[in-house]
Amino acid sequence: MNLFKTLPIGKKLLVILLLVSILPLFIITCGYYSLGKTKLTEQTINVLRVQAENVAASINRYADYKFKYLYEIADTPQLIRILKNIEEQPHIPYQTTSSLRVKLRVYPDFLSFCLIDTEGQVLLRTGGITTAGFGERAFFYEAVKGKKHISAPSLDNGKPSVYFSVPVKHADKILGVLVAQCKADELWELIETENGRVGSGNAVILSNSDGVRMAHSTSRDLIFKSWILLKPRVMEQILKEKRYGSDIKEITPTDKPEVMDAVTRALPPQYFKHELVVGKGTYHSVIKVMDNGWRIMSTIPESTFLKPVRTSMFYTGIISSVIACVAIAASIIIGRFSTKRIRIFASISKEIARGNFTKGVPFTNGDEIGQLGKAFNAMTASVRQKIEQLKYLNDVAVEIHSHIEIERLLQDLINISQRIVNAEMGVLTILDENLKKIKYFKVSIPNLFEPREIHDLPKGKGLLLSVVAKKGKTLRLNNIMEDPRSLGLPPNQPQIRTLLGVPLVVNEGIVCGEIFLANKANNEQFTLEDEEILLTMTYQASVAIENARLYEQVQQLAITDGLTGLLNHKEFYKRLDENIKVLKHYNYTISLLLIDVDHFKQFNDTYGHQVGDRVLKTIADVIKSQIRVVDIGARYGGEEFAVILRDRVTPQPLMLAERIRSTVHAYPFKHDGVKSQLSVSIGIASVPVDADNAEDLIKRADEALYTAKKTGRNKVCCYKSTRPD
Ligand code: GH3
Ligand code: MG
Ligand code: MG
Repeated sequence: MNLFKTLPIGKKLLVILLLVSILPLFIITCGYYSLGKTKLTEQTINVLRVQAENVAASINRYADYKFKYLYEIADTPQLIRILKNIEEQPHIPYQTTSSLRVKLRVYPDFLSFCLIDTEGQVLLRTGGITTAGFGERAFFYEAVKGKKHISAPSLDNGKPSVYFSVPVKHADKILGVLVAQCKADELWELIETENGRVGSGNAVILSNSDGVRMAHSTSRDLIFKSWILLKPRVMEQILKEKRYGSDIKEITPTDKPEVMDAVTRALPPQYFKHELVVGKGTYHSVIKVMDNGWRIMSTIPESTFLKPVRTSMFYTGIISSVIACVAIAASIIIGRFSTKRIRIFASISKEIARGNFTKGVPFTNGDEIGQLGKAFNAMTASVRQKIEQLKYLNDVAVEIHSHIEIERLLQDLINISQRIVNAEMGVLTILDENLKKIKYFKVSIPNLFEPREIHDLPKGKGLLLSVVAKKGKTLRLNNIMEDPRSLGLPPNQPQIRTLLGVPLVVNEGIVCGEIFLANKANNEQFTLEDEEILLTMTYQASVAIENARLYEQVQQLAITDGLTGLLNHKEFYKRLDENIKVLKHYNYTISLLLIDVDHFKQFNDTYGHQVGDRVLKTIADVIKSQIRVVDIGARYGGEEFAVILRDRVTPQPLMLAERIRSTVHAYPFKHDGVKSQLSVSIGIASVPVDADNAEDLIKRADEALYTAKKTGRNKVCCYKSTRPD
């Protein structure tokens, strides 16, 4: 199984095709062959049995015919006389010979005759019949016992002969033996004729009781050259006795036990299967043992009667070969076709693994591999896009974290967000700590609509801002005009088709603002991927925003006075200097108010330093409440304050100073159940009227303050009015 797994696809296909196409054919053919073989063998055995019986009957008829005439001759009175009194009537043998010759003409089936007395002496003979050793041969000693006998064929003066012998009797006394020589050809022809009736391929072999072959239906030449079915014991005896004459010398014993078994059993026709004694091949035979001990073997080679099934097997083999060739060709073609594309897959995958995403699979339709190619390309494109997004996000992260100043950071964020999702415009909002007011509001560049100052978070059920900023949920609307939440959009808004909103969440999961992007380019719609990548970016951004906010707070602390919340002295001086340097070129008037609390030392001494601090804070609050957003308030010194005013038109520092002075004076300071009244003195100086730099301006304002103190306190003095013209 493991071996099969490791095979290339083409070879796997080949194995499967061969199994599917040839295995059933092979099984059917084997079944058919086995069935056919059994049937044909049965039929053939029956035919062989019938043939053996027919041959036996035919031989019996032939022998009966021969013996009939031989007995007739044996009854001839001359022969009996010869045997009774041969010495007294020496002329009779001659007469008898003549008489027998006449009879031979009547019975031409006999070649010659021979009369032998009981001692084995030949008394009479006709033709060229040899007399040598007749007394030792079976046809004599069998007949002299009273039995008729047929000899095995032998060569007699070069003539293949068979000897028929009968006893010559008178008054039940055996006087001698009459032997007739016949042509062995007759027996052979008989066997051949009987065999020819069955058909070609088979053979009939006749042997005598010794197992010596007497006739062979298909090979006469085998009769005198070889002996088959001969038991070794018999062979020895034959050689010793020379029973068959001296012409036959070649004797081959059998070593086949099954042949021996079949030959020695004298029962009804016996079937057996055997190999050839000489040569190759399997033979099926039936042996019939005749009454006189002769054996008829009807035999046929297996290859002959199995020829029809073997022919079928041959054609089946050809068909199987053709199918196998087709299967091999098909598997090679299919294997090459499919593995070629898989090889392309492998090479492109390697390229992708090296980071080269430029190549795609060239086949993207058709069969399953085509579909796989399409999916593979889509997957590659998606991976490439993700990698690009990650790279971009990485760049974005670097860029975002490079800013510490919140204004620039937020502007960058909205610009980057717009680019990431390919939107036409975008808005970023950061809320204050209470999530009630908008602290920062940035629009993307290019700016398609004017930034507006929004301070309060819009209220209402259907508002988009409420959904994103308050609930911290993302919002993706691809047809905003049909959405009831579009009511939350301000009037005069540029036309919006599609909208994507994501919350900005700080570390502890608190929403600190949101980003809105409108109108995806090319009239497309915002996708889930857009939403995800924007969210990923906002996680990075939230950290950066938090850092920037902390930085801003630290910055603020550095320039703010801790007690009053106004700018400290250092910042005051820096702002004053900057304002004078920048704004004097634009015809601005910059006025400085220096405010000093009257008799504060005394107050401190009376109520304590802590009460004094609370008073200072209250006075700072009064100052804050009186000045505009654009004005700058600062704590100049211990109980001294400063206000910087910038104005293009006629400056109103005097009015403001008066308002501050009167408000402080009217303010009911309460401490430990005691009410106090306090006042401030204020000195005013302006650029460019009184001075043209910060140092001089402070000096002039201080001089004016001094004048106010000197002239009674709780009053406002301008430097100009204090100067002698
Ligand atoms: P006047 O300005 O009217 O001439 O009188 P004065 O008593 O206010 O005099 P001056 O301006 O010289 O006094 C400064 C006093 O302000 C000294 C000190 O007791 C008080 N002072 C300065 N800084 C602080 C502060 O931070 N807290 C408190 N409680 N007192 C302060
Ligand atoms: Mg003072
Ligand atoms: Mg004072």
